Amino acid sequence: MKFSKMFIPTTKETPNDATLPSHQFLVRGGFISQTGAGIYDYMPLGKIVLDKIRAIVKEEMDKSGANEVQFGFVTPLSLWQESGRATTMGNELLRFKDRKNGDYVLSPTNEEAVVNMVKNRITSYKDLPINLYQIYTKFRDEARPRFGLMRGREFLMKDAYSFHDSKEDLIREFNLMEETYKNVYNRLGLEFRVVEADSGAIGGSGSKEFHVLANSGEDTIVVCDSCDYGANIEAATRKANKKEKLETISQEKVETPNCKTIEEVSNFLNADAYYSMKAVIKKAIFEESSEVVVFFVRGTDELEETKACNAVDALELEDASEEDVSKAGLCAGYCGIVNLPENIKVFVDNELAEDNNLVCGANEENYHFKGVDLTSMENIVYKDLVAVQEGDLCSCCGGKLSYTKGIEAGHIFQLGTKYSEAMDAKFLDSNGKAQPFEMGCYGIGVSRLVAAVIEQNHDEKGCIWTKATAPYLVDVIVSNAKKDDELEAGMKIYEALKDAGIDTIIDDRTKERFGFKMGDFELLGFPYAVVIGKKLKDGIVEIVDRRTLEKEDVSLDEVVSKIE
Ligand code: ATP
Ligand code: MG
Ligand code: MG
Ligand code: MG
Repeated sequence: MKFSKMFIPTTKETPNDATLPSHQFLVRGGFISQTGAGIYDYMPLGKIVLDKIRAIVKEEMDKSGANEVQFGFVTPLSLWQESGRATTMGNELLRFKDRKNGDYVLSPTNEEAVVNMVKNRITSYKDLPINLYQIYTKFRDEARPRFGLMRGREFLMKDAYSFHDSKEDLIREFNLMEETYKNVYNRLGLEFRVVEADSGAIGGSGSKEFHVLANSGEDTIVVCDSCDYGANIEAATRKANKKEKLETISQEKVETPNCKTIEEVSNFLNADAYYSMKAVIKKAIFEESSEVVVFFVRGTDELEETKACNAVDALELEDASEEDVSKAGLCAGYCGIVNLPENIKVFVDNELAEDNNLVCGANEENYHFKGVDLTSMENIVYKDLVAVQEGDLCSCCGGKLSYTKGIEAGHIFQLGTKYSEAMDAKFLDSNGKAQPFEMGCYGIGVSRLVAAVIEQNHDEKGCIWTKATAPYLVDVIVSNAKKDDELEAGMKIYEALKDAGIDTIIDDRTKERFGFKMGDFELLGFPYAVVIGKKLKDGIVEIVDRRTLEKEDVSLDEVVSKIE
């Protein structure tokens, strides 16, 4: 491809809200363009990267024997009512009405749709197992869309769903998917860890997350220095807090005033009586301790949500940065509830809440103890959890545990029969008895991976794509494209590289100077540049390695073999 023919609108301007390198560089490099909160268009280079990642995911999924399908981006709400998730999904599920007043949603995930597809079509154990996947747009009305492609509202996900006649067969497929995912991330050239995880709102039992390691990752993961063991902080903490231990841990119930204003909330939180709760929260936010006191900054509507976020702001009047506050708001989605300022409720951790007969959720119907109405509860309930400390010994091998930061790039779940039972999807087993399908589901954040590659691979000048994800492997830079000999030599190298099957772009722009072209090369992050300049008269060009920025003189006919 020729630069002169391509739409690559690079700019020096960084969007105000772009704090992460991937967000800054993808916008500055003209890969993506924001059209609304959490909604991005892909420009040509962005589209090439997205498609390269998508192709690798597809190849590995096909290799595993899964079948590609495509579900509607829009699904009728009735399907979600069948599974019960119309009430449990909360505000992330975007609902709307059509002209006939029918209720619909934009698919955030597709368990319901796939059960609907398979139900009454697979009727015998003889037709099992089967794994269906798609790579398609998702919409989640995230409370805080941010970080560019990392947390969009509209994003591209690979979602797969498998059906089995037994738990054993589900586990076999789950393990196969783990291997498939490892192949994907290895081929993408990423450093990653597989960690034990919680199942979150999707439900089910066993689950593992795949984290791309990067300092900017939103998630804290616990990893062992001498074996493969890893767990996200929630799962690690749970492991460290076996039930019997938990029961002995301090538990406090404190009456809360019915705060109406942010001032009242902050006065309340500053009062001595609440010191310990505040301290724990503070620790969770600022020291990133593994005490999973996390808030659910989720109200029953947008106003409530804003109020709740404001209240979290109010928690730390002195020294909370915007980032800390949003971090606090973000852990939120996961584990507990703060519904401020009417009442303050801090619950730690979904599963613990379940153990205590609490149901956590995003909307009013779910703010209940079994029977007891939570919305009228006037207590703060919280528990101090035993933290997993760095240096603790790994229970698998006795190695040392440490914290690191990860970007959740994939998640696999053993769903069991949660959806098949709810939606009455059954098959006949070998005894002729009707059984609900055992199911698994498996997600990869395809568009998040575009950002994750850059979070892991960049410097202060810009992107450094891995070979598998680079829009082009080589940028042939013609220093002065007005000079015929330079342009001619550039074109020759460009053609030779292309003939060797190497994705190549040639910077043949006549209106830009060499310095500008070099700046674009560094920002755009192609793995190599071949610079055609002054030494051409001696038959020499320069190869620049984007990662090290080291330069090497090579003769014209050596270029292809040096890069291959
Ligand atoms: P997160 O914890 O980051 O909100 P999740 O656990 O809600 O993610 P899953 O339901 O496990 O997400 O979805 C599968 C994958 O889809 C995730 O592992 C992630 O890579 C990707 N993903 C989820 N939400 C988003 C989003 N808002 N923007 C981009 N990718 C996302
Ligand atoms: Mg989420
Ligand atoms: Mg998650
Ligand atoms: Mg997940």
